[in-house]
Amino acid sequence: MSELWQTSTDVLVIGGGPAAAWAAIHAREAGAEVTLVDKGYCGTSGATAPSGTGVWYVAPEETARVNAKASREALGGHLADHYWMDRVLDQTYTNMNRLAVEGKYPFPTDPATGEQLRTGVQGPEYMRRMRAWVKRVGVRILDHSPALELLVDDAGTVRGAAGYQRQLDRDYRIAAGAVVLASGGCAFLASAVASPVAAATIRHGRCRRVVGPVRVRHGSRSARLDLTPVVRGAGRTGLRPSDSPTLDAAEVVEAAQAELIPFQKNYLRHGERLRPALDALDTLWERASNELGGRTGDDRIRARQAAAITAVGRLMYESSLARTETRGMSKRADHPEQDPAQRHHILSGGLDAVWTETAEVAS
Ligand SMILES: Cc1cc2nc3c(=O)[nH]c(=O)nc-3n(C[C@H](O)[C@H](O)[C@H](O)COP(=O)(O)OP(=O)(O)OC[C@H]3O[C@@H](n4cnc5c(N)ncnc54)[C@H](O)[C@@H]3O)c2cc1C
Repeated sequence: MSELWQTSTDVLVIGGGPAAAWAAIHAREAGAEVTLVDKGYCGTSGATAPSGTGVWYVAPEETARVNAKASREALGGHLADHYWMDRVLDQTYTNMNRLAVEGKYPFPTDPATGEQLRTGVQGPEYMRRMRAWVKRVGVRILDHSPALELLVDDAGTVRGAAGYQRQLDRDYRIAAGAVVLASGGCAFLASAVASPVAAATIRHGRCRRVVGPVRVRHGSRSARLDLTPVVRGAGRTGLRPSDSPTLDAAEVVEAAQAELIPFQKNYLRHGERLRPALDALDTLWERASNELGGRTGDDRIRARQAAAITAVGRLMYESSLARTETRGMSKRADHPEQDPAQRHHILSGGLDAVWTETAEVAS
């Protein structure tokens, strides 16, 4: 077992991509002491850092905004939530303007107008500047320090997170007044084929996605320095197997990928293929809960990654089965038409028992 390091902070940001960087900057500007933990190296990790990225930068002019939103309606299967679209548009516009001025990002200039074109960024340059900015405002960055589980108190309130610092071979527990989960999308280890479950929209704002994992959980600030024994790790699968940890993480990842990566299963979705794939993932989850664990820090990272891809796959397929139509990016080969009666969101959750329910689309 590796050494344990304990510390505390007002706001703990988990992740090191654009969502995490912006969240850290905003929390710092609000006066909080902020710690950011990244699985990789903040500035090069995440999906944006190696890519060219289109950004939903639209001037706050009514016709332009209405047209911008209208252009996404069909793509999103007419499920878009205008409240969130407006928030994303506002925050993206503000943030890209700040990036140009405070971040000194070298946006190209339109030769015709002489104005900067702020509708896209080059990931490496963008995230290099975001890291510098995050450091400049005084955020403590812990690179190569994946969070492995949240810490909760007896009431279930999130009080921080625990993880492992790979380069120091050291476990950590960080008590925090609030935790921001900005650890990216669902395509990790699934060759981007799991992306549709995330139904991502354009973000780069204060919060990262419309149906996604940014949640700010408020704990008591006065309790943040106190990691007493009432605070416990909320993680289970991959960390605390009920039996002896005999299952190999690589085996779990390979088995999950066999259900998630083939286009026949996860792009040309059909109930007859989805159901057996989900059954296989359910069985895999049960085995992982019983037998997946790790003694070293690196083993535990791999075990948690294996648990994560399996969990996401189950949520995704359960949701896909609940939508018996084709809508937006959610395509069903056995239900190729859009069904007006299914113009609703499908929410999903659960670990040992995965559930889905429908939710009305906000007008
Ligand atoms: C092929 C592709 C093309 C895309 N094109 C666009 C586009 O043009 N425009 C657009 O807006 N979006 C695009 N996206 C979506 C893109 O993922 C996001 O815009 C952006 O990268 C999301 O930022 P993020 O910070 O939420 O997540 P990411 O950039 O994915 O960052 C996740 C961060 O969390 C860290 N992390 C993960 N797990 C842990 C952990 N356990 N502990 C600590 N840190 C952790 C990672 O190291 C990383 O730093 C694209 C995505 C893909 C895959």
